[in-house]
Amino acid sequence: MATPAKSRRRVKPARTFTCLFHFGEDTYAVFPLRGIHPEVAARAYRFKKQTGGQEVYDVRLSTQGYVECDCPGHTRHGHCKHVEMLAAMGCVPRLPEQPRPDGTPRPTAPSVEAEFA
Ligand SMILES: [Zn+2]
Repeated sequence: MATPAKSRRRVKPARTFTCLFHFGEDTYAVFPLRGIHPEVAARAYRFKKQTGGQEVYDVRLSTQGYVECDCPGHTRHGHCKHVEMLAAMGCVPRLPEQPRPDGTPRPTAPSVEAEFA
C-alpha cells in the first residue's frame, strides 16, 4: 500500500518589523493603519510612544491633502512633531504644502530639518 508523500514545502514564518522614530528623548513605534475608509483618510499612521506615558496618536492624510494628528499639540497649534516626522520621511506632504481643512492660509511654522542618524 502506497503512503502519501510528505510535502516538502516549508511554511515560512511571517516576517515582521517595526519602524521606530526618535524625536529628542522620545521614541515612537509607527505603524500604517490599514482598512481606513477612503472618505476618512487617504493614509493614516499610528504612533505608539515607547517612552514616558506611552501615549498613542493617530495621524491622517485626508483625501483633500491636509494632515491632522489627534495629539494635543496639533489640536492646539495645527502642527506637531508627529506630522513633522512623517513629512521628513515623505509619508505626508510637508507643512507648507498642506492645505488647512477650512481653506484658510496656513501660518508659517518653524522649519525643521530632519537629521537621520
Ligand atoms: Zn501629533
